[in-house]
Amino acid sequence: MSRVASSRKAAAFTGAGVSAESGIPTFRGDEGIWREYPPAVYGNLPGLAAAFLFRPRRVAGFAQDALRAFAAAEPNPAHRVLAEWEEEGRIAGVITQNVDGLHQAAGSREVLELHGNVHRLACRSCGHVFPGSRERLRATLGELERLTARRRGPGRRALFRALRSHLVPCERCGRGTRPDVVFFGERLPSGVLEAAARLASSCDLLICAGTSGVVQPAASLPLLAARAGAAVVEINPEPSALTPLADLFVPAPAGAFFAGLAAAGR
Ligand code: NAD
Ligand code: ZN
Repeated sequence: MSRVASSRKAAAFTGAGVSAESGIPTFRGDEGIWREYPPAVYGNLPGLAAAFLFRPRRVAGFAQDALRAFAAAEPNPAHRVLAEWEEEGRIAGVITQNVDGLHQAAGSREVLELHGNVHRLACRSCGHVFPGSRERLRATLGELERLTARRRGPGRRALFRALRSHLVPCERCGRGTRPDVVFFGERLPSGVLEAAARLASSCDLLICAGTSGVVQPAASLPLLAARAGAAVVEINPEPSALTPLADLFVPAPAGAFFAGLAAAGR
């Protein structure tokens, strides 16, 4: 406990759970979307391509559920308090596995996104990364809703066109783009994991919130921090793979916990 109280350089490590109270379902856990959409099919590009051939209506449903949640989400107290702490110099930055951009929306500046961001596009040819348009994302969602509402369900060609409708050509070279997110089996963006490892191994307190701690290589960061002597605090309503490593486990939803901290501080 004293190591927590005497921290001089803290950092945060977040996962899908910090955005659960913003309305974005987690992958694992009771409300997790893997229950409805198994990761072996929907968590990787080849699986999605196969599902597209055989179960286009399910793929449309998956894309629609995901886009609707990302389009509507607003930061919750967990994102806001972490941003305030950075502003006040209490934490050096946030390492996140999330792709929703909610830490930045709350005002965090030092955000290391290990798995990319659904609101950005990446060029398949030159690698240029640039912001996508939220209006286009909403238009894609509208088109998916229109297609799935049809009694016969979406035709594959129309679905393919709808799914790609927000992928505008690269603003630098004009070639094709993809969402700037890391699917299972893909490499992490270059440099980000190294920067995250530097932060994790140089902080003296790592606040881990909302992660099951099983997605590698991200899940090894708390271990790196602990080996370098940092205290590890975990905030999660359920014990996770990280819990045995934690010096302090707070069994609570992250949004409610940070809201309570903020209220107590006033
Ligand atoms: P996960 O889905 O594997 O695990 C979620 C964890 O959050 C669980 O341990 C669960 O108990 C906990 N949790 C649930 N509600 C919570 C709450 N209110 N407060 C705190 N914790 C809560 O998440 P993961 O470890 O981040 O791994 C999933 C991968 O999927 C990530 O790598 C991420 O890229 C991706 N993903 C991202 C988002 C997003 O961007 N919001 C959402 C789902 C999945
Ligand atoms: Zn390009």
